[in-house]
Order: sequence, then C-alpha cells, then structure tokens
Amino acid sequence: MSAAANQTMPAIFFGHGNPMNAVQDNDWTEAWATIGKSIPRPRAVLCVSAHWYLPATLITAMAEPRTIHDFGGFPRELYQVQYRAPGSPELARRVQELLAPLAVELDHSWGLDHGTWSVLRHVYPSADVPVVQLSIDETQPPAFHFELGKRLATLREEQVLIMGSGNLVHNLHTYAWGRHTPEPYDWVVRFEAQAKELMTSATTGANGANFDALINYDSLGRDALLAIPTPDHYLPLLYVLGATRPHDPITFPVQGIDGGSVSMLAVQASC
Ligand code: ZN
Repeated sequence: MSAAANQTMPAIFFGHGNPMNAVQDNDWTEAWATIGKSIPRPRAVLCVSAHWYLPATLITAMAEPRTIHDFGGFPRELYQVQYRAPGSPELARRVQELLAPLAVELDHSWGLDHGTWSVLRHVYPSADVPVVQLSIDETQPPAFHFELGKRLATLREEQVLIMGSGNLVHNLHTYAWGRHTPEPYDWVVRFEAQAKELMTSATTGANGANFDALINYDSLGRDALLAIPTPDHYLPLLYVLGATRPHDPITFPVQGIDGGSVSMLAVQASC
C-alpha cells in the first residue's frame, strides 16, 4: 500500500454474497485482499451496505462501532468474528455536511453489519482503517441514491474510500445453498453482461458518466426483474456509480456467480 497524500481514491462496489465468505479463503476473498493491497491506503472507508436498509438516511457516528452478526443459522465461528475498526465521528459530520439540506441523523446504535465486515476483513485484515456506514433509505427511488453518491464523490479527493456492498444479482429464491456448484442461470449471465456493458459504455461515451439505464433498472426487462427482486442489494451500486466521475475507467476486479443466482461482481471506478 502506498501513501495516499493527495491521491484520489477509487469508489468500489463489492458483491459480498454468502456471509461465510467472511471466514473463508476462496477466489473472491483473495481478490478482495488483492484490492486492499493495490489501491492507495484510504484515510477512512464510507460504506453503504445492503443490510442497513430502513426508512431514513443515518450515518454511524460512534468512535468504536460494534460488530453486528445480522444473520441466522450459520456456524458458531461466524458469530465469533469481531472486526474492531474504529469509527470516524469526523467523517460522519462531513457526510452530514455534504448531504445537507437532506437530514442525515448521526447514529450511535448500529455499527458494522456483515455487508461491511465480511468484505473488509479481507481488504483490511488489520482493521486499522476507520469505517463509517451510511444507511439506505428504503422509501426513496433509485435516482435518490445515485444523487447521494454524486454528492459524496468529493470524498474521494479527501482520501476516503467510497464502498458499496451488495450484489448486482441477488435472488435467494433460486440460490443453491447446498454444497454442489450449479451452473449460473442464463438470466443471471445475461443481466450481468448487460450491466457491465452499460457501465463501461457509460464512462467511455460522449455523455460522460450517464448511468440512466442502470438507475432505471426496472425498465431493463425480465432479466433485471429476476436479478433484482428487491432493491436492497442493488442500491449500493448506485452510490458507487454516482461517485464515478466522467471518464473514470470502470473495471471488474472480482467476477463469478455463486449458487447459480448471486453475482459476486465487484465494480471499481478507478483513481
Ligand atoms: Zn447480503
């Protein structure tokens, strides 16, 4: 990791997938670790997790966020994970300022949920980079979340890593929880390819970062409806796309489909 002085940070969407990734070593978690070593070291991480989805925009403001085990039915070792990264009350107030006049409430009760720590445990295993979480207001349309990402983009120049954690395709009705590895559904493969094409052409096209088709994803047809049965795991991507500047190269440093219907795609708007 290099010193980050005056370097613009990337914005990165991670597909977090199964919570067990937190305690496993596989191709995805190794790729997450590689990202941590390859980008400039951030001053702090601002994470938008699919798992903090409620009717308000809140920002964690505690100095020592707790590790939340927000899942059921997993092995004991997963509940024993503690990710003790510090918070950053200062960054929380900066986010409040950037999003004003939107009322963003300083939160002292949440912490880091598994959308955040299952990935960061691999990206920053020493837990020495402060982390703040921003909630997703479930009452707001996709364009609202994209707009918030735009207003937060300037944090990239303040050495803050803007991180989204969800999954581009997240359909648990069709997800295979067993040990066998099923072939990805054809609609997963098609939607992922379509979304990747829309992302890369958006930043190379004449209109700069035009992500309208991805913001209005519900008009992309049946594949999109199957890929995004509920918005929670998709919306963190819109924060990252919002924070993408025109002509930022977009890359996909992690790829793959888990259980047939969960895309592990990571999307990086580069520095
Ligand atoms: Zn999840």
